[in-house]
Order: sequence, then C-alpha cells, then structure tokens
Amino acid sequence: MGGNGIRPRTAPILSNPLRARYAGSFVPEDSSLYCDVSLPVPLDRAFTYALPETLRHRVKPGCRVIVPFGPRKLTGVVLRCHNDPPEAQLREALRLVDAEPALDESLIALGRWIAAYYCAPLGEVLRTMLPLAGEIRAGKIYSLTDSGRDAARQLLLDALPGDPVAAVLRALDGRSLSAAYLAKKLPLADKALRTLERRGFVFAETVRTERDPLRAPSEKLRVEFTGPPVAVKLPKAERELLAFLELHPGSHNLKDLEAVVRMASGAARSLARKKLLKLTPEKAGVAPAGPVRAPHTLNPAQQEAFGQIRDSIQAGTFRTFLLHGVTGSGKTEVYLHAIDAALAAGRGALLLVPEIALTPAVAGQFFSRFGDRVAILHSAFTDTERAGQWRAIRSGAASVVVGTRSGVFAPVRNIGLIVVDEEHDQSYKQEEAPRYNGRDVAIVRAKAAGATVVLGSATPSLESRYNCERGKYTLLSLPDRVEARPMPQVELIDMRIEFLETRKQATFSRRLLEELGKRLENGEQTMLLLNRRGFSSFVACRSCGERVQCVNCSVTLTFHRRDRRMLCHLCNYAEKVPEVCPKCQSEHIYFLGTGSEKVEDELHTHFPRARVARLDRDTASGKRQYEHILQGFREGSFDILVGTQMIAKGHDIPNVTLVGVISADTGLGIPDFRAAERTFQLLTQVAGRAGRGDVPGLVLVQTINPDHYAVRMASLQDYQAFYEKELHFRRIMRYPPFAAMANVMVRHEKQQEALRRSTELSAFLSPVPENMRILGPAEAPVSRVKNEYRYQMLIKAASRKALGELLYRARQYALDHKWNATSLVIDVDPLTLV
Ligand code: ADP
Ligand code: ZN
Ligand code: ZN
Repeated sequence: MGGNGIRPRTAPILSNPLRARYAGSFVPEDSSLYCDVSLPVPLDRAFTYALPETLRHRVKPGCRVIVPFGPRKLTGVVLRCHNDPPEAQLREALRLVDAEPALDESLIALGRWIAAYYCAPLGEVLRTMLPLAGEIRAGKIYSLTDSGRDAARQLLLDALPGDPVAAVLRALDGRSLSAAYLAKKLPLADKALRTLERRGFVFAETVRTERDPLRAPSEKLRVEFTGPPVAVKLPKAERELLAFLELHPGSHNLKDLEAVVRMASGAARSLARKKLLKLTPEKAGVAPAGPVRAPHTLNPAQQEAFGQIRDSIQAGTFRTFLLHGVTGSGKTEVYLHAIDAALAAGRGALLLVPEIALTPAVAGQFFSRFGDRVAILHSAFTDTERAGQWRAIRSGAASVVVGTRSGVFAPVRNIGLIVVDEEHDQSYKQEEAPRYNGRDVAIVRAKAAGATVVLGSATPSLESRYNCERGKYTLLSLPDRVEARPMPQVELIDMRIEFLETRKQATFSRRLLEELGKRLENGEQTMLLLNRRGFSSFVACRSCGERVQCVNCSVTLTFHRRDRRMLCHLCNYAEKVPEVCPKCQSEHIYFLGTGSEKVEDELHTHFPRARVARLDRDTASGKRQYEHILQGFREGSFDILVGTQMIAKGHDIPNVTLVGVISADTGLGIPDFRAAERTFQLLTQVAGRAGRGDVPGLVLVQTINPDHYAVRMASLQDYQAFYEKELHFRRIMRYPPFAAMANVMVRHEKQQEALRRSTELSAFLSPVPENMRILGPAEAPVSRVKNEYRYQMLIKAASRKALGELLYRARQYALDHKWNATSLVIDVDPLTLV
C-alpha cells in the first residue's frame, strides 16, 4: 500500500479496529479490508476476518489463509474479499498460504455444487479439493512490512539489549530470512516472530523448499551423460562411471547403476556437482520409460467411436459419451486419440482411473505418448510430489492429467475432455465425508466447462447405461476384441455336483486342477481370484458355536495364519488366537473358511514346484509392494497369481491363459441391492484378464449358484441380457436408477442414544412427501464399528430436489440439537449399504 505520508508513524500503537477504520477511508481499489473464509468445520457458513495491512492486496478469492478460530488456527479458503462494514469486531487473518489462488472460480463453484448435492459443509469440501497440507508445512520466509520498518527505527533506538523482538527486527532490516534460520540464530525467535506478525510488523511467505536433488536416495535419481568427453583428470570411480555411461547411453536409475558400477552413487553426485553429469529426480512413481509405443491405427469400431468424440471436442460443447467396450477392445487407444484431439483444440485433458489401476506401467504409457505434458496425481505420492504435480498443472505446463478420484479437482487449464476409465468402479466414491462420486463430479465439472466426457467400461454401471436410454449420454460400442482376438471361453463348474461326485469339500475342482497343471507344463500363467469376504477364515468353537468377534465392532475377527493372530478388518484390532473358547472354555477351537493363505498352501501341495505369488491387502499393504508383485508376475517370475478383487482390474498380461474363480457366490449373499451387479462386474472383469495375447483364454468359474442370473450372464459375457434383467428388477423395486437414494446413519457410543436419536430424527422428518419413502431406522448391517452403534434409514425419492430438501432438514436438526459432528452421516447415492 502506498500513502505512507498519510498513515501515522504511530500506527502500531492504534488498536486493530481503530487502525482498520482509519485505513478504511484510503483503501485503494484493489485492496480489501475483509475477507469471507470457508473453514473445514461442520457449519454451513463462511466466516469474516479482517485483513491486516500486510495481506490486503495479496489475498484473493481462492487463496488459502490461516485464521484464528476459537483457540485454534485453521486453514480455510477465501471466498470473497470486500469492504462491507462488519457488524461486530472481527479477528484478523494470520497468514496467507498461497500467493496465487489455489482454487479458481470454476472449482469453487464445483465445490459449492458438491456441498449442496452431497449435503456436506462447503469448508470440508474445499479442503478435500486441495491437495496438500504439505505446502503449508514448507518453509516460511519473513520480511518487514512498511510499518515494521518504521517501528524498527523507533524500537531499535530504545530497545533493551537482548530483547528478542528487537533482535529479530534488526536481523530482518533490509532482508528476508527463513523462520528456520532465525530460530537457529536467535533465542526465542519463534515467539518474537509471532508477536511481530500479530502486530503487522512482519509478514510471512510460504515458500516450498525444494530439497537438494543431490541428497535424494539413489533409487530416486536418474543419471544421464550428455556432454562431450571429459578432459579434466578425475578420480578412478568417476572415470569408471563415465566410461560405463558412454558405452550405455540414455538415462539410468542411480540405484540400478550401483549394482553394475562400483561406488556409482558417490561418483555420480560428485560429477553432478562438477556439472559433468545430469542428475535429475526420478519421475514420481513411474517405471523407467518403456519402449515408446507408437499409436495404433484405430480399427473401424475404434475409429467410429473416436470420430464422435473428436467432433464433440471440436464443437467445444458439453456432451457425455458412454464407451462400452468389451475387455481387450482397445478403449485406452480411443482415450489416447481423444486426448490428442483435445490438445490439438488447445484444451487440457483429464483421465481418471480407479485407485488400483494407476500403475507405473499405465503412467509410463502416458509419458511415452505425451512426454512432459503429463502430470500424474496419485494418493500414494508424498505431499511434496503431489504439490509439484499440482503446480505444473496450475501453471499450464502439464495439460494432460492422469489421476485417481481426487484428480477430478486438478486445476487443468481450459479443460476440454474428461475421461473416466472403468466408470463403474466403486473406488470413485469417497467413503468418508464429503462422500462424492468422482465420476459424477467429473460430469458436473465438464458441463460447466463446455467439455466432453467419455465414460469407459466393459461393464457399465446400470445408472450410466440407463442414461443412454434416457438420451442423457451417447452410447458408443466396441463389441469385439482388437485384432479379432477371441473372447475368453467361460465354463461354470457346479461345486455341488463336484461334492456329490468326490465326497470332498475341496477348494479346487478336479477340472481346475487339471487345467492348472497344463498351464504349468506349457509355461503359461494363471490368475486365481478369491473373493475377499468369503475367503477370510474365522476362529470358531466346536462346542458352543461361538465365533470370536472384534471388541469394537460387530464383525468376526479374521484369522491370519502367518502371525497366528486374529484381526478386525474394520478397525485393525488384533488379538492372539485363544487357547480355549472365550465363551464356554471348551478347548475345541477350530478354523472356518478358506483364507487366501490356505489356498496358497493347497496350491503348493498340488503343485510343489509352481511359483505362486499372492496379492491381497495383507501381502500388498503399500502401493510399491503391490507394484512389485504385479511386476514380477508380468515378467514371468511367477506361474500363478492368487489374489482378491485387486487382480481383476485392468492388468494386461498377455501370457495369462487361464483364470480361475474359486467361488463366484461369495458376493451374492451380501444384503445390498447391488450385490448382483457387483458379482456380474467382477466375474466379467476377471474373465477379461484371460487370453489377451495370442493364445485364447479359458475361464473356470466355480459356483454353487450356476443358475443365478448374474453368474450365468457373466459366463455368457452377455452384458445386454444382464442389464435388461437387472433394470427390470430395479424398476419394480424402485431402486436407482429409478429413484434417488440416500443413506442417513446415526452413530453413537451408547446404543440407546443411537437408537433414540435415529427414531427422533425419523419422526422429525415424517410424514415424508409423496413419492418418497423412509425405510427404517434399523440397525445397520454392521451394527457396531469402532465402538459406535449405528442405526440407519434408507431414503428413496422420486425427486432429487425433494430428497435434497429432506436431507438438508436432517442436517439442520442435528445442528440444532447439538449432535457432535460425527453422529450424523449422510451418504447421497450410496454405493454400499453395509
Ligand atoms: P481395454 O481397455 O478395452 O480392455 P486395451 O485398451 O487394454 O483394452 O487394449 C488391449 C490391447 O490391444 C492393448 O495391448 C492395446 O495396445 C492393443 N490395441 C489397442 N488398439 C489396437 C489397434 N487398433 N490395433 C492393434 N492393437 C490394438
Ligand atoms: Zn465355546
Ligand atoms: Zn473392529
């Protein structure tokens, strides 16, 4: 702010409100005295703060600021800057986090839509939309403000020696210093800085301190030698490294080099310091760039689909396509072409993929096609990595973004295309507040931006497919696999007959064992799918039937053989396997069910020489481990991969010629109207893993329900028949897509209280308008989780608007009755009801 001559030198002595009023008459146009901030608290309103003079021209809508809130400090997003006179005395904003708005106007508008639609507080939505707590933790640089400089002159004249405030002022006179440096050099600098900041004498800028790349661990560095031959004399290790690099041009991972060149790590770093070698950070989470894949020439079906998508992109208006392509039909190639078209039209593109499908192989494919224009957003990345990607996107340097669910909020410039791969996938729905569905948010975002949406799947969700019928989406089909590869042949094996014939309750049917044996002989690979829920083992008592339950949740503990413990998959509670039954003291404890560990053991018994890998949440806790196992399988280090749902998704491994499903039925018993749809999707997807190379694939599905329509139609790979049958059922039952639905859950530590609250709430909401129904309240299928009792109401409504209004009233009721924030959970368009 200019106008030094007007502002009194004694400004710091004036109290804040006075100062604000005084300054008010001289506010330049671009400067505001107040800002409205949305905070991550469960209240539906913004909070107004006064802006200290140091922040006045710098704070803009969409920037994050740190403000006092009660005794706490919170980070919120500025919604509006203004000069409306406040009604009460305001507290001051403390600090600005972003020099440039982190969310632009359109993303804030998207946030408002999410808050309204999913019945969530705006502040919590905006926090979810922003990637990084990490940026806030980054270093802070302090400088003096104008009044700070004035005060410094005054203060320094009569400061007592050793006064920390004066010491900091003196240190900052004429330069900017980091908080870390000041803390190291001056006693009590932290406290002094806080005092000075409060009084408006200093301001902090958050800078992201990029770590010195030379200090990164070897596996995170790439080495490349590009320069002319080195003339200067070098130590032996460095000479050896250079010699190796000259013989092996291109860039190498430093860790890999250590394996072949002695002392490579030290030598590379030293050479880099001398600028004789290029040392760059490994691209986050990305496999060493594979061979560059030339674009395939699209086959006629792909060309037809792409043509329509391209026309829409070129028209620059909002439109949604559903690309229904069987497994192996080449959907990815259509996406890649569509992205090309968006870039050619001068617009950005966003591709969303399910959590588990964003592997380095997938990322690598995009890098090799679009190079540096690609940013990858993945939850497994560190905050710093994500912050870097985020900045590249915001600046426009990256115009192609590949991300998982929250990638839908990436600040892609001038977005013209959003692709949602495997659009039916459950991981697009966030299972904590705000409970948004990334696919649906993508469509809303595209609509506002005049962008084209492509939803792709081999097993489209009923909702999306039905939207084609209603004319909301345009259906595009890829009915055949590329290059006329045959669809895999699927056989159902009736395990009831198997039992009658063998009199054995076996895990593997004779047919599956036989085919497995053939694959091992031929050096081909097999995938075996277990359904997680059905394939846990439990500890039970033979005398009284007791199953050991979690102390915090109403679920049975799962037995883990490896460390002989029982584990709760909801809250991670663990205990040792008891010696005697906790209920009747009998010693007849035994194990029920077939864990994936047991399946693995049985495989070893049948095929002692087979190399078996197992992929489930226990073996692959971290993303990298998961990659590791999958990579090993892809490279042929294993013959058989045993896994849960994790293996069903999108992996393209040509040598897999047999897929076995141990039990198709386990998902069918779940009390959820989507059970059949899920089973159909899972079976179809996993079957699609077979025969992606030149050898045709075989799929063996073991089941005790061979006549169930989901199992039968999956075995025929007849999506259309399944769709029609399921749609009919949904129509009769008034389930989505024929009704809007929400799950309203009330939670409390005390069962009585949970019950009372849910009953009261339902009474408050009743009578409901016509065309709406409340089912319940009833105990939730899992009635206790993490020590909280849960009661739920399912609300079905013919009108989305009426549903929204009802939910709003429910929330208002909880606020009015001072329920704690976690007591009421509203899930709009819920995907799971258990
Ligand atoms: P989907 O995602 O539909 O299951 P993919 O996109 O994974 O199928 O494609 C399957 C395989 O077919 C991939 O290896 C891909 O490179 C290849 N492919 C895609 N399009 C073509 C084409 N037009 N000609 C030849 N091969 C293709
Ligand atoms: Zn017992
Ligand atoms: Zn538990």
